[in-house]
Amino acid sequence: MTSSPTAPGDPAGIVVLGSTNMDLVAYVAKAPARGETVTGREFRTVPGGKGANQAVAAARAGAEVSMIGAVGADDFGARLRAALDHSSVDTDLLRTVEGASGTAHIVVDDEGGNAIVVVPGANGTVTSLDHGDEALIATADALLLQLELPLSVVVEGARYAREHGVRTVLTPAPARHLPSELLTFTDLLVPNEHEAAALTDLSDPRAAGLALLDAVPEVVVTLGAAGCLYLARGREPVAVPAPRVKAVDTTAAGDAFVGALAVAVTEGRPMPEALAWASAAAALSVQRPGASTSMPYRTEIEAALGSAGNREADPV
Ligand code: ADP
Repeated sequence: MTSSPTAPGDPAGIVVLGSTNMDLVAYVAKAPARGETVTGREFRTVPGGKGANQAVAAARAGAEVSMIGAVGADDFGARLRAALDHSSVDTDLLRTVEGASGTAHIVVDDEGGNAIVVVPGANGTVTSLDHGDEALIATADALLLQLELPLSVVVEGARYAREHGVRTVLTPAPARHLPSELLTFTDLLVPNEHEAAALTDLSDPRAAGLALLDAVPEVVVTLGAAGCLYLARGREPVAVPAPRVKAVDTTAAGDAFVGALAVAVTEGRPMPEALAWASAAAALSVQRPGASTSMPYRTEIEAALGSAGNREADPV
């Protein structure tokens, strides 16, 4: 069961139960080997975390978004909260806890390759929902979940949403084994092709997506610049091409895609249209540097779709 779409003209109400991290990004010609020290070219701190990225993407795409999670009582925590506030994400239920905020230590080399260490910090303290969280989720149109919070709270959130008829959208990233219970409570699963392969042991995205339909009713496998594949029980798979653009930074492309997709779906748009919308949003995000900072606004998504015309989805 899923909640009915919001009335036309009303913004969708989306809750994100997820991570906030400060991305600490060093740009180098070549990443250091073990024991080696190299001089980097540039350093940036960028608000990120899959949960926060999806929250900003959905808010800029036009939804009323609230974030459940935690930041630390440090400078990063204050900046992470301010970044969400700046994009009109409601942070009333974002806890501030003792200790460090989540951080992602990222080394980007000149070939665009990267190596990342994520230290969960405050995110690791979010192990269960409180009454305020539950009340918020119960009235949402959709709950967005990823795997950067402890699995216990992700499962609890998905179960609670399902019990209250709230649509659940799960991004199974970073890839890890999922309890079957979590998939039982998932309405829409959005893995990238690597995550789909990790979940199924099938390297072909179409085969992996079809296998995942045994557990969830709808799956979108994202394929980077090749677009995405939509699979639903009882329907032919549909391939949606990505707009051809010059990508400068594909960090958080998947989060841009999911945030915008959730908005379009909860507004009641049919799936092919919602996927075109999400693809347009993600294509805009890859043309700019940064994670949450690269998320496009609704007017930009609409302008991009208008100029591209209606791209046809291809049955595969
Ligand atoms: P993730 O960021 O989770 O690894 P993908 O790389 O599959 O996910 O990207 C998610 C979506 O972002 C794709 O389905 C596509 O719509 C869009 N996208 C990613 N890279 C590009 C690109 N180079 N050009 C246009 N769109 C892109």
